Amino acid sequence: MKKIKVNEEACIGCGACVAINPDHFAFNDEGLSHPISQDNLDQKELQNAIDSCPTSAISLVEAESEECECNEECEEECSCEDCGCECCHHE
Ligand code: SF4
Repeated sequence: MKKIKVNEEACIGCGACVAINPDHFAFNDEGLSHPISQDNLDQKELQNAIDSCPTSAISLVEAESEECECNEECEEECSCEDCGCECCHHE
């Protein structure tokens, strides 16, 4: 099962993905894009958004756990220590 990942280190907040595919992307408080949905990953607009990102910040990655509901936050800086999902890499 795949999921959308936005590399916040690479995102420059240009807004292309948000404009092209508002079903899947929105700006966070820092003005960077983040995924707001992990549904309909075969949507044409999603692929267009991925292809249009000037810094190639967006990728479809293999989700490590189908039960995880915490999305991209766990990839860089987990804010859900108690959720117990595999993708948080709890020791
Ligand atoms: S298109 Fe890429 S650089 Fe622009 S806001 Fe989206 S993720 Fe960030």
